[in-house]
Formats: sequence, structure tokens, C-alpha cells
Amino acid sequence: MSIIVKDLVHIYNPKSPFESRALDGVNIEIKKGEFIGLIGHTGSGKSTLVQHLNGLLKPTSGKIIINDLDITGEGVSLTSIRKKVGLVFQYPEYQIFEETIYKDIAFGPSNLGMSEDEIHERIKESMEIVGLDFERLKDRSPFDLSGGQRRRVAIAGVIAMKPEVLILDEPTAGLDPKGRDDILAQIKQLHSKYGITIIIVSHSMEDMAKLADRLIVMNRGKAEIEGTPREV
Ligand code: ATP
Ligand code: MG
Repeated sequence: MSIIVKDLVHIYNPKSPFESRALDGVNIEIKKGEFIGLIGHTGSGKSTLVQHLNGLLKPTSGKIIINDLDITGEGVSLTSIRKKVGLVFQYPEYQIFEETIYKDIAFGPSNLGMSEDEIHERIKESMEIVGLDFERLKDRSPFDLSGGQRRRVAIAGVIAMKPEVLILDEPTAGLDPKGRDDILAQIKQLHSKYGITIIIVSHSMEDMAKLADRLIVMNRGKAEIEGTPREV
């Protein structure tokens, strides 16, 4: 699944005193199966860009083409985008609201119209991938978990939807070194084992230099530098 971002502009609160040009003409091409590290200073537009890739924001101008489909075009449903592109938000711990971990992870896949059995299998599988014990944790409340575990639940919820492109917005922020290494290793495995295209937003050049095939550096709303970790 290839992704082409063409001249993407996003202005928050246009024509108001709070107007903010978060994306200022972004051009990017990502090939199927690539592992991309998206880095850049705070406020450079990383989260805004990944929300566009998941169809959550409407561009001021420009387009995003995923496998020949213009997802910014009229009449493209959010569900059809979500089947392809999964996004784990920057602060997923604040978005967990179901009463059990099972129901929480089921939320995404149930919206894709799968059978109960299939959802069950996917929850089991995705909890295993992120290192959560299915039997022990499925009926517990997400609120009993640590921040790192809740993050894993959020990642499992997106993995359970089996996206072809998995985007994680700062998946390791606030985790201890062990939790960080675990999660990055699991993501790396998803990439190598299933060939999923991965985009990780990160502040850590060091982590991304180790993991990514290619880095894209955002600066003031533009994708400025692209290259292998060695080149950047
Ligand atoms: P960080 O590394 O801190 O997460 P980021 O690169 O993800 O930063 P964005 O969150 O995309 O940056 O923000 C880009 C710009 O858009 C910033 O100037 C920010 O203030 C502005 N912005 C982001 N979200 C909103 C919003 N919901 N309403 C108005 N302005 C916003
Ligand atoms: Mg951000």
C-alpha cells in the first residue's frame, strides 16, 4: 500500500486570531512495507500530518492518495480508511473508556463489521503481540493498568483492526527504558513478520536511527529532509 501526500496544507482556525498554519505544503511518498521515522521539533506538524493520514482532519488544500484512492476526496468513508490505516494517538491513555480491556480492544474491530468469533481471535492475538496476558487481563478495567500497559492496550486496539499501515504517534513517550525497548521491539517484529508499513512519530533520533528504513523530518509544517538514518 503506497501513500502519496501532495501539497498538503492544514490551517487550524482559519481567518481567526488563532489561525495556525500547521502544515504548509507537505509532499511525501511512502512505499509499501517501509518503516518510517517521522521526527521534528514540537509544533512542527507531525500529529496533524498523521491525523490526516487516518482521515481524521480535512485538508485546507492538497491531497492524500493511498493505493490510487484519494482519501481526501468526496464520499470516502472513514471506515474504508481505517481498514487500511491504523493510528495510535499521541496520548492514548486518555482515550480508553470501556469498562474492560476486552471491550476496549474490541471497539475498533467491531466498527469494521466482523463476527464476534473473529473479534475474539483478533483480541487474543493482538494482546499477545503487545505482550499483555489475555486470560489474566481481558476482564480487568483499563483504569487498573499502568501508563505503559494502557499504551499497549491502545496499540492492541489498532493492531486488532489489521491495518496495512500502522502509525504510532510517540508510542514510547513517558515509558521507562525497558517498556520503551519492549514496545519498539514488538513494532519492529510486526514490520518484519507481517510486512506492515510502519510510521512512528518520535522525538528520538537515536531510536529511529536504529529502527527506521527512512527518516522524514518535519520543520514548520514542511517535510524538509528525507533519507536513510545515516544521511539525515
Ligand atoms: P509535538 O511534538 O509537540 O507533539 P507536533 O509536531 O505533533 O508537536 P502538531 O500537534 O501537529 O505538532 O501541531 C502543529 C501546530 O498546529 C502547532 O503550532 C499547534 O499549536 C497547532 N495545533 C495543533 N493542534 C491544534 C488544534 N487542535 N487547534 C489549533 N491549533 C492546533
Ligand atoms: Mg504531536
